[in-house]
Amino acid sequence: GAHAPLLAIRDLQAWYGESHVLHGVAFDVSEGEVVTLLGRNGAGKTTTLKAIMGIMTKRSGSVMFDGRETIELPARRIARLGIGFCPEERGIFSSLSVEENLMLPPQVRPGGLSVEQIFELFPNLRERLSSQGTKLSGGEQQMLAIARILRTGARLLLLDEPTEGLAPVIVQQIGRTIMRLKQEGFTIVLVEQNFRFAASVADRHYVVEQGRVIDTIPNEEIERNINKLHAYLGV
Ligand code: ATP
Repeated sequence: GAHAPLLAIRDLQAWYGESHVLHGVAFDVSEGEVVTLLGRNGAGKTTTLKAIMGIMTKRSGSVMFDGRETIELPARRIARLGIGFCPEERGIFSSLSVEENLMLPPQVRPGGLSVEQIFELFPNLRERLSSQGTKLSGGEQQMLAIARILRTGARLLLLDEPTEGLAPVIVQQIGRTIMRLKQEGFTIVLVEQNFRFAASVADRHYVVEQGRVIDTIPNEEIERNINKLHAYLGV
């Protein structure tokens, strides 16, 4: 039978102070899927992730996670339900070691990955355990940022431009990591500017424009929609 989606968003609106930025975002994500939010700068992609996570405190509409309405919950309660947000700037503390960075957020849910499980997914981090945050490459910092939310027990990962500023070979590594996480059953919402990368990892793409989702493109239809996509993204 049909399963309810793990994440179901309807009429999501959000404001920065008086500035109304999200005007009714709606989309679904099933368990184990990878979806992307594509769109131009300022379209509202990052704000959508922040609204799901409860970091945007002024918001309305409906965000159902695992059958539960979260729109009224504070961010720490949303985290405890199993949602983790990885911001674009990654949030790695340069004065702390890899291990300290990893241990920084509390394990908010049973089922958070152990350090051993994390090393299995991110073998590079094992060798870097006592390195300082600043000594890591951009790619290693991104891996650490993802590893850190896995430790908290998140099963829905909200990743904001994980490939930003990374060399192509590292972008491929991040892609393999995302596919591995998908195999392990994690659900991922990814904000991306790089739609080539998006097409290599995602099941479906949602196009965000002016604070709304204006189109849905299944990944297998991306080539057929390439001109439309170029127009949406202004590339
Ligand atoms: P980008 O790739 O540039 O981050 P985006 O699609 O993620 O694009 P958002 O960052 O969600 O876009 O921004 C949506 C709108 O909200 C933009 O008009 C932006 O200027 C505005 N905005 C973003 N952050 C703030 C803030 N802290 N205060 C006020 N307005 C903001």
